[in-house]
Amino acid sequence: MSQIWTKRWFLDMCQFCVKHGEGKKWYLQAKNYAEDLLSDLRRRNVITNFFGHPEHLAEDSTRLASLARAPALVRRAISGLVTRRMKKQHFGQVLPLEDIEVIFGFVNSIVRVPCICRHIILGREVGYCYGISMGPGGGAFGDLLKNLDDSFLFGPDTSEFEELNAQEALEAFADHEKEGLCHSVWTFVTPFIGGICNCDRVDCMAMRATVVHDVKVMFRAEYVAEVNPDLCTGCRSCMRVCQFGALVYSAADQKASVDQTACYGCGVCRSACPNDALELKPRAEVPVVANLW
Ligand code: SF4
Ligand code: SF4
Repeated sequence: MSQIWTKRWFLDMCQFCVKHGEGKKWYLQAKNYAEDLLSDLRRRNVITNFFGHPEHLAEDSTRLASLARAPALVRRAISGLVTRRMKKQHFGQVLPLEDIEVIFGFVNSIVRVPCICRHIILGREVGYCYGISMGPGGGAFGDLLKNLDDSFLFGPDTSEFEELNAQEALEAFADHEKEGLCHSVWTFVTPFIGGICNCDRVDCMAMRATVVHDVKVMFRAEYVAEVNPDLCTGCRSCMRVCQFGALVYSAADQKASVDQTACYGCGVCRSACPNDALELKPRAEVPVVANLW
């Protein structure tokens, strides 16, 4: 491979694919879900603090609101610091349903748990998050959580751990997508992946930080959406579900199109389109966004 090619190859994939996926999608590598990664004491502490003290999210929400009022230079500096720290600790990436299907094909357990963000922001338990593990019954990650005292995961209104098989989980994700929720995969001390969440920019702290406050804690997907103008009838159903404001409408043409620089490649618009006019293309094949994460 020539030097130019090598450089191009590295540019057209997210940093985690380069570092943790040997040039393939990092979240499709079984090694990043391995149970033995949970023997790392630091990782175990991060997980128990994250779920054992959900109030940290309320503090983060207050800090984000303060940051929004800070001068631009300060905002940029702090945002860069937070992103660097989160890339090591707890970082996400948007991914579409077809990649989730691949993940469900090799993990050994999928458990639905209440979303920690909605617990804090809405004060309600909503089962939008899924723990995925190579071990049975939630694996070593699940065992860690089950040993937490006072965790919101085991409050009186929760269904605790609800184990689903791959088909049931996939159907649940398709339903979440119809609700307009965007899927994202999450690390707990990178590269260990512990869960897939279903997010929106109002209730999900990570998406709010990334999209609303420009404090990036998640990558865009490895894909980007495109409208086939021959199939689009201009019904605008897609525009109602895009969490990122990436769909635009031409009154003159009476058709929608995608602002690919705003698109996160979640595929939620695709599910909402009655005419199959939307498709996801590999990000690397679309020069204008090939290196936009
Ligand atoms: S345009 Fe479609 S794929 Fe892109 S962010 Fe919006 S809903 Fe997701
Ligand atoms: S939902 Fe489909 S048909 Fe309707 S405007 Fe969007 S792309 Fe066009």
